[in-house]
Amino acid sequence: MVSYKELGLVNTREMFAKAVKGGYAIPAFNFNTMEQMQAIVQAAVETKSPVIMQVSKGARNYANATILRYMAQGAVEYAKELGCANPQIVLHLDHGDTFELCKDCIDMGFSSVMIDGSSLPYEENIALAKKVVDYAHKYDVTVEAELGVLAGVEDEVSSAVSHYTKPEEVIDFSQRSGCDSLAISIGTSHGAYKFTPAQCTRDPKTGKLVPPPLAFNILHEIEKKLPGFPIVLHGSSSVPQEEVDTINKYGGKLPDAVGIPEEQLREAAKSAVCKINIDSDSRLAMTAAIRKYLAENPSHFDPRQYLKPARENMKKMYIHKIVNVLGSNNKL
Ligand SMILES: [Zn+2]
Repeated sequence: MVSYKELGLVNTREMFAKAVKGGYAIPAFNFNTMEQMQAIVQAAVETKSPVIMQVSKGARNYANATILRYMAQGAVEYAKELGCANPQIVLHLDHGDTFELCKDCIDMGFSSVMIDGSSLPYEENIALAKKVVDYAHKYDVTVEAELGVLAGVEDEVSSAVSHYTKPEEVIDFSQRSGCDSLAISIGTSHGAYKFTPAQCTRDPKTGKLVPPPLAFNILHEIEKKLPGFPIVLHGSSSVPQEEVDTINKYGGKLPDAVGIPEEQLREAAKSAVCKINIDSDSRLAMTAAIRKYLAENPSHFDPRQYLKPARENMKKMYIHKIVNVLGSNNKL
C-alpha cells in the first residue's frame, strides 16, 4: 500500500471547491505515453494550472498500471524541475468499473478514482459507488460517480444511446453514495465521432457538421438541486477541425468527425462543472503532427523526430484548453 501523499499528488477536494467558487474548470487529460505526460506537465506548469492526469482501463492495458503510476510520480518531480514549487497534480482512474479495480488503484497511489456504475440499475449504481467511497475515504482519496449515460465509444466504454441525467435523482444519489463529484450526461459524448450526421445540421458555407447544443437546462436544474457540488463532464473534446483536416490531408480518413463546440464548454466551465475530460483532442493533435511530419520527411525513421512535433502540438492544444476554454490558468 502506498499513499498518493507520499508521491506528492493531491486529491480533488480542494481544487474542485475553488473551481466551483471561481467559475472555472480543472482540465482532466488522459495519458498513455511519456510524450503525453511531458506535454501535460509542461502545459500545466507554464500556465500555472492545477491538472488531473487520468488513466483509463485501456491505458492500464496499453502501458501497464505500475509504469503509469511511476510516470505520475515522475510528473510531480518533473513539474518541480520545471520551476513549479507546489504542483497540484491528481492521478485519477477514469471509468473504473469494479470495486476491485478502484481498490487496486487506491492501494498503488491514485489520489482520485471514478466508479462508473452508470450502466447499472439505479440502486446498484448507488451501492457500488458507496462501497468504493467507504474504502477510498479511509485514505482521503476522492471519488467520482456517474448518473446518466453518455453515448459514444472510448476505450472499453461504449453506448449507442445517451440517457440524460435526471435532475430529480441527483440529491438522493449524491447523499446515499457519498461521492465527492458527479459525472452527468447532458449531451456530451465519447470519442471523435460524437454525433451522427443525422443528429447534426450542416453549415451551408463550410459543409461541416454543427452538433446539437448541450442540455444546459438540465445542468442548471442539477445546480439548483446541489448548490456548489462538483459536476464533471465526460466526452468533452471539441475535435478541432484543423487537426482533422491535417489528418485527412496527409492520408488519414476521418470524415465527419465532430465534437463539442468550445463556446459551450466555456459556458459549462463557468457553472458548477469543475472537471472537463479531454482525451480525443490529444489523440488527434498527436496523429495530425505525426502524419504531417512523416509525409514531409519520408526518409526519417527516428521516432524522436516525429514524436517531438507531436508533443509540441499536444502541448499547444493543452495550453489552449487551459487558457481559452477552462480558465484554470494562474489558479495554483
Ligand atoms: Zn468518460
